[in-house]
Amino acid sequence: MDIKADTAALRQLDRAHHLHPFTDLQDYAEHGGRIVNRAEHIYIHDTDGNKMLDGMSGLWCCNLGYSQHSIAEAVYRQLRELPYYNNFFKCSNQPAVELAKALAEVTPAQFKHVFFTNSGSEANDTNIRLVHRYFDLLGKPEKKLFISRKNAYHGSTIAAGSLGGMAPMHKQAIGLTYVHHINQPHWFENGGDLGEAEYGLQVARELEAKIEELGEDKVAAFIAEPVQGAGGVIIPPQTYWPEIQRICDERDILLIADEVICGFGRTGKWFGSETYGIKPQLMTFAKAITNGYMPLGGVMVGDQVADVLLSGGGEFTHGLTYSGHPAACAAGLATLEILRGSDIIETAAEQIAPHFQRRLREFEGHPIVGQVRGQGMFAALELVANKASRERLAPESRGAVFCRDRANSNGLMVRQTGDAMIMAPPLVCSTDEIDILIEKLGIALDETASHFGVK
Ligand code: PMP
Repeated sequence: MDIKADTAALRQLDRAHHLHPFTDLQDYAEHGGRIVNRAEHIYIHDTDGNKMLDGMSGLWCCNLGYSQHSIAEAVYRQLRELPYYNNFFKCSNQPAVELAKALAEVTPAQFKHVFFTNSGSEANDTNIRLVHRYFDLLGKPEKKLFISRKNAYHGSTIAAGSLGGMAPMHKQAIGLTYVHHINQPHWFENGGDLGEAEYGLQVARELEAKIEELGEDKVAAFIAEPVQGAGGVIIPPQTYWPEIQRICDERDILLIADEVICGFGRTGKWFGSETYGIKPQLMTFAKAITNGYMPLGGVMVGDQVADVLLSGGGEFTHGLTYSGHPAACAAGLATLEILRGSDIIETAAEQIAPHFQRRLREFEGHPIVGQVRGQGMFAALELVANKASRERLAPESRGAVFCRDRANSNGLMVRQTGDAMIMAPPLVCSTDEIDILIEKLGIALDETASHFGVK
């Protein structure tokens, strides 16, 4: 049987043998899903012959689209030269060394060291190991607690899932006892009658209150995404980050920026920390570092932490077989070469993103759009039945699920989170392609309004 040619057979085998991530497994086993078999530029194709504009850059990772052949070639060359060797036991490899140097150059000045992992989840687990090690070496072993935010996403291992604040995940896995959560800076959802700026300060000060409650001598770090991505592209009020930075600076609390989505141009600068003027001591990256071509993640370790780690104390008992995998690092290097050798980030920030954000705001007058928010090349639309009361279209986010399904059927890959439609198109989109995205999204919004009887 040629399963490539036989979509029905492929789908049947998928349902029979493949357990999918973040999926209702019973539903999938009954109904199956879309089998994507080809992609070019910003378009994906499935085995049913559909062509879709990818408004999500894969899973927020293919920021440069699907036709970056130099990355594929770099990986192939590396696999022929040295497919694998580990970085344990006093060994290293050239792509890992070169990528470490390149990352030190493109990240903010405080970062000169990197610890490689395969994924964002493992990188956040690594953050916990690094922070605990740091305070142990400083002779403060009682500083073990982490503060994070409700509805944050930091990955899906037990530790990263605990660091995150996704309620449905916490229901299925016991959280680490040393992680505590404060509210997210989601003005539309929780701001009530407060102005955005005032709300931003108020919700940031929950960090101060939580540190007081737990004890400054026990709290080690605060972790946050500059912009919460999977939680619904939650753009923090302008007042939020400066206040968080002040609180961390005034106390002995490490600030960890999880840049797995924000990193490498998504928010308009290389890193979300730069867009929001944050100075973290640790920074998580993954996804777009290889443009999604190979699995790779890591933690950028700022000088404050690195100096202590490098000051003695014996072995740091942490690492992964594939930490600094040569082929993954070759993909990272090739990706950075494209970003550094072009003006893709600048063009996206100065031309494409302003067009994208401006066109999206045309939907502010749409009867089911309660809020349009965005920064750089990502955005969210909150769907409502009533703009003034912010009443939702339907229970259990069914309005946004319907809208997402309509957009997908119309050839636009976008996602739904709660009652929001979320988008993160590739940085290499043209303004014409943004117009196509907007047109398809508009049709889906109209169809949704008409389905739910909102005028
Ligand atoms: N942190 C953030 C902010 C993320 O968005 C994600 C993935 N969506 C992760 C961590 C986890 O990364 P991975 O799926 O590579 O483990």
